[in-house]
Amino acid sequence: MKVTRIEDVHQLTFYSPVLPINVQLIEKELGLVLIDTGLKQNAADILTYIEAQDRPLLAILLTHAHGDHVGGVDTILKAHPYAELYVSRRDARLLAGDRTTDSGERPLNIRGSLPPIRSLPDKLLDPGERLFGLRVYAAAGHTPGSIAYFDEQHRLLFAGDAFQSHGGVAVAGDTRPLFPLPGLATWDKRAAVDHAERLLDLAPRHTFVGHGKALEGTHRLYLALKRAKRKQARRFSR
Ligand SMILES: [Zn+2]
Repeated sequence: MKVTRIEDVHQLTFYSPVLPINVQLIEKELGLVLIDTGLKQNAADILTYIEAQDRPLLAILLTHAHGDHVGGVDTILKAHPYAELYVSRRDARLLAGDRTTDSGERPLNIRGSLPPIRSLPDKLLDPGERLFGLRVYAAAGHTPGSIAYFDEQHRLLFAGDAFQSHGGVAVAGDTRPLFPLPGLATWDKRAAVDHAERLLDLAPRHTFVGHGKALEGTHRLYLALKRAKRKQARRFSR
């Protein structure tokens, strides 16, 4: 496990450099907030790291319901029973194993692994809500209920898999040959591009993603957006 520190964020990375999976631990006044939980087998290392901080874990905030983000939930909550579990209202259905789409959504296959989680969310989040100094933003595309968290004070964006930086900076669904997994697991590429654009309007100083290094500034993210839009334009002009 590799640790990167940026401001009040500890990013823990597993399986670097080949198949990197990140979680982010944020220091808050009253304790720690964990964004995503990696795979089930990463939970022990996350718990050891939290232990060493000697501060309570307040909450787990999920960006979406895929197995490489929710796998550690049960083990971590067992060790920290007072920590609260948050997920988007829409992806809570994926957590329950429901892969059906809604009438307002494009009828595309919801992809990626959705392992069963025993823990029930304490609260279902909708875009616009604010918790632990973070604002919830819709980031649908990778999954229907993907969300991002934005620290408005420090301008830090926790984007989950709305973007990846490993294998080349990319918007969800823009499959990169050097690290194709997030692209292949993406549900609606068009929605992913729309939401990526709105997230960049926030002008984050640092963007943390599920797979790959955190990005400083938005330059490379805008290039990735441009690339995804070009690809899409080609697809729809055929
Ligand atoms: Zn992922």
